[in-house]
Amino acid sequence: MSACYLDTASRSLIRPEAREAALDFLDHVTSGANPNSLHAAAKHEANVLDGARKEIAGALDRSVRPSEIHFTSGGTEANNIAVLGLAQGARKKDAKKTKVLISAIEHASVLDLVDPLEKNGFSVCKIAVDKNGVVDLDALSRALSPEVALVSVMSANNEFGTVQPIARIAQLAHDEGALVHTDAVQAFLHAKLDVSDVDALSLSAHKIGALEGTGALYLKAKTPFSKSRFGGEQESGVRVGTQNVCGAYVFGRLSSILKENMDAREKATRALRNQLKKGIQGTSITFTVDDTSAPVLSGIASLYAPGIDKDLLVMALDSLGFYLSAGSACTAALPGPSGAVLALGRGNDFANSVIRVSFDERLAPRDMTAFVEALVRSVEEIWSTGRFSCV
Ligand code: PLP
Repeated sequence: MSACYLDTASRSLIRPEAREAALDFLDHVTSGANPNSLHAAAKHEANVLDGARKEIAGALDRSVRPSEIHFTSGGTEANNIAVLGLAQGARKKDAKKTKVLISAIEHASVLDLVDPLEKNGFSVCKIAVDKNGVVDLDALSRALSPEVALVSVMSANNEFGTVQPIARIAQLAHDEGALVHTDAVQAFLHAKLDVSDVDALSLSAHKIGALEGTGALYLKAKTPFSKSRFGGEQESGVRVGTQNVCGAYVFGRLSSILKENMDAREKATRALRNQLKKGIQGTSITFTVDDTSAPVLSGIASLYAPGIDKDLLVMALDSLGFYLSAGSACTAALPGPSGAVLALGRGNDFANSVIRVSFDERLAPRDMTAFVEALVRSVEEIWSTGRFSCV
């Protein structure tokens, strides 16, 4: 039995183009110097970083300038820097701006900022989502006021893939004078992004099949921003510390390549999703969110297996060689149901029975067939043994 990887939302498998770019960097591109020194070898390395900025800016939108791309260690750090930096930057400019709005289904790297924001004098309001995970625009409108410094809503959710109406959210926020940040870690190069509407946007290299330990923050020029990192002036002071030049180079190269074939990749991934949909038809297993009522990333399928403990099902599938998660890898160690799934409003029992299958166009259709068979069989076996929980 060969293993089948269905956890690309946690970490995408490294793409061959990324491997080639990394080897190219090590063998031919790098001067080996610190890009922040003043000599020619350093200048060469700084140019490599600037080339990567250009490629990532190009993959985002023509309106994005390379100087607006700042490298970070990943999506978590980009989110931390953006949310804290924009909220404080807005308040510095206008002292009445003391509120931050986020959606109820943000990744932990945004949700966990509620405490530091509150300790810093901000009040934070979580905006509800509907049963398919779409942000409630009426609730957002009601929460908006001239006191709102920042609205931060993810472009696409990491657990059930729902894509948010970011352009509309940004318009509502900007009309009230609030800044807008979006966590585009899952959406980048998996779905079309309208960057022109936002002031800041977070990216992570390992979600597209580049190297982990690399991310980027797009920060629109002249956006009010306060530094939250200290100890240097790298990346214009937005993220200090010596840059991961190899990671940035590979991220840039892969962004350009994946931008070119995004539609074809999406089509192939959607065919796999449809195969999964067909495969579970007539069984007790259903999709958590309805992708005919809301836009959903084709490579993230959240499935509900009534009455079955999510962790037990993940372990049963693991023993058969299918590697997937019950939700976000960042909070996998925490007991209990996912907060994002609970925010869909379907209750504890529902949330305890949800697993996440994530994949891209590289998954072979025969592997999806094998997975569906294993899933249905595992659910039946768990029912027949009467062992519904891990404890
Ligand atoms: N935001 C979202 C939506 C994610 O899915 C993740 C990772 O799972 C992150 C942020 C954090 O990214 P990183 O792992 O690069 O820190």
